[in-house]
Amino acid sequence: LLVASNVRKQYGSVEVLKGISLTVNAGEVMCLLGPSGSGKSTFLRCINHLERIDGGRISVAGELIGYAQRQDRVFEMNPREVARQRRSIGMVFQRFNLFPHMSALENIWAAPVGVKKVPKQQALKRGMELLDRVGLAHLAKAYPAQLSGGQQQRVAIARALAMDPQLLLFDEPTSALDPELVGDVLDVMRTLAADGMTMIVVTHEIGFARSAADNVVFMDGGVVVESGAPAAVLDNPQHPRTIAFLNSVM
Ligand code: ATP
Ligand code: MG
Repeated sequence: LLVASNVRKQYGSVEVLKGISLTVNAGEVMCLLGPSGSGKSTFLRCINHLERIDGGRISVAGELIGYAQRQDRVFEMNPREVARQRRSIGMVFQRFNLFPHMSALENIWAAPVGVKKVPKQQALKRGMELLDRVGLAHLAKAYPAQLSGGQQQRVAIARALAMDPQLLLFDEPTSALDPELVGDVLDVMRTLAADGMTMIVVTHEIGFARSAADNVVFMDGGVVVESGAPAAVLDNPQHPRTIAFLNSVM
């Protein structure tokens, strides 16, 4: 579903992504690990075209992200098209970024109604189903300030799902949470994975990566250092930098 080939990104003269190539098949979960500053968030932002890439290409479902191709020439896409592509790629951040003046349910139906022009009744019904799916149907009317961090994050996941994304990106979804709230969020993510959602998850939760990922990618210094099945990368890492990183987080 997602194919990244030789993706490069620089900020000024600093090259942050130095040729990232990876593939995520439909229905698969990829966990992306790596030390701070290795380029994980930047890579996710490139998938969404929140950042322009300086080299290589990214395609989702066969469509080039951010660029249009005619014959042999590649053009930058117009903003409408970029927005259309972005709607099909959900993103869940470390900070949940819910709208504080909207209830949990409103946070979920606002974008389908406002952006996708889904009829409100239909969006409300779907919103309740999604809240139920993340275990929060009883808190539909609560405002973000009345919810725990873990509950807010589960609302944020439901909000992303409401747009029917073909791909969901998670950037350290549990690292801002108190330890006792992490499990509920990871459980929701495991359920999504089991239901066949295609996901890329930047996380330091090795246990989640081991149990939910089809593939684990270890990045450092803007390159993929090692990748493969969780059992290979996590339990039998080959590269010294992978070994050092895993020792530091486990
Ligand atoms: P972390 O685990 O801390 O979230 P990360 O792997 O997500 O790290 P990135 O946030 O992708 O790392 O950052 C990679 C590098 O790019 C860092 O050196 C960072 O300082 C730099 N960087 C990120 N965003 C920008 C920006 N907008 N302008 C300049 N440099 C940036
Ligand atoms: Mg990051």
